[in-house]
Amino acid sequence: MHWLWKWTIIGGCLLVTFFFISCMAIVGMYAGGSSSPTGCLETQPAQAVAAVADTTQWDEEQREIAGLIIGIGRERGFSDRDIKIALMVAMQEAKLRNPKVATDHDSLGVYQQRPSQGWGTPQQIVDPVYAINKFYDVLATVDNRDAQSLLDVALAVQNPSRKAYLSSNNYFPGWEDEADALLAGSGAVAPVVTGVRQVVCEQALEPEVAQVASDWQLPLRDPYRLTSGFGSRIDPVTGERGAFHDGLDFAAPAGTPIYAIADGVVIEVRVTAVSNGWGNTVVIDHGQVKTRYAHMQHQPAVQAGAHLKAGDTIGEVGMSGKSTGNHLHLALYEGGTIEQRSSGPVYVPGEAIDPVSFLQEKGLKP
Ligand SMILES: [Zn+2]
Repeated sequence: MHWLWKWTIIGGCLLVTFFFISCMAIVGMYAGGSSSPTGCLETQPAQAVAAVADTTQWDEEQREIAGLIIGIGRERGFSDRDIKIALMVAMQEAKLRNPKVATDHDSLGVYQQRPSQGWGTPQQIVDPVYAINKFYDVLATVDNRDAQSLLDVALAVQNPSRKAYLSSNNYFPGWEDEADALLAGSGAVAPVVTGVRQVVCEQALEPEVAQVASDWQLPLRDPYRLTSGFGSRIDPVTGERGAFHDGLDFAAPAGTPIYAIADGVVIEVRVTAVSNGWGNTVVIDHGQVKTRYAHMQHQPAVQAGAHLKAGDTIGEVGMSGKSTGNHLHLALYEGGTIEQRSSGPVYVPGEAIDPVSFLQEKGLKP
């Protein structure tokens, strides 16, 4: 056969592969990068797809996602066990589909990755090639994973804090058999040619550390209910009318993580067993304002003097101090002074300001 014909056929085959996941061509992959002056690296993400057998269990969209997970995994040299985990997590998180609208917080795409947790922009995350490569990027950082259970490896990538309440039965219901079947029925891997290039900046992806676009964010990301606003109210403990409430109350389950609402320096950490006052408390100086986070369940997760980034975890919701239920009391102040006491620095509040209107100015609606 003439060489030109050969290449025409291979080219046509690649196009067919991209759309129908059926071609059996095996062609070498290309990868590589070039440095840009911004400290970011422009790379070609691994883009490959495996043939997946037609089954009644999975429809065309689901088989396409499975084909990408297997293809990209093989292309990047991951073991079948790693690829199986990647399949099982995708089955659990979004049923091997690519949801482009968030229904749980800001979770998007094949792996329900969250922009607020540093996984990428919403546009990136809803690109399955990007999302799958991101999953494998983090999977590659899990040491010793062959010695760990499938669930432990999966949650090490997705969210280690969920280990506390998830078991294989509720996170991987039947998915191991399904993933084994897909892998066993999968065929050759072929490159996907989309021309998409990806810009990867130098900071390592750490799913537990938020990298936020905005300078300001809300103190809770899990569901909460606002129970008491700023200003005069009936005191919930004394029943006294007109007691001034200097903050905003977010009712949430005990243990809900609390995040710093902006960059700042911790100016007070209070640990107390006294059932009065603010209980276990952190105060952060953000320059423009100071924020107090009160009634934490345990000793706060930060120490006085620590420099924080917006979104750093500082403690957990609780009901220490004067509190009738689990909630975060968030207060914002201007001015005030810091007194050095034997127990450490103590912030003497300046003027309390309304958290709702302040946050609204920052584009946030608590
Ligand atoms: Zn309060």
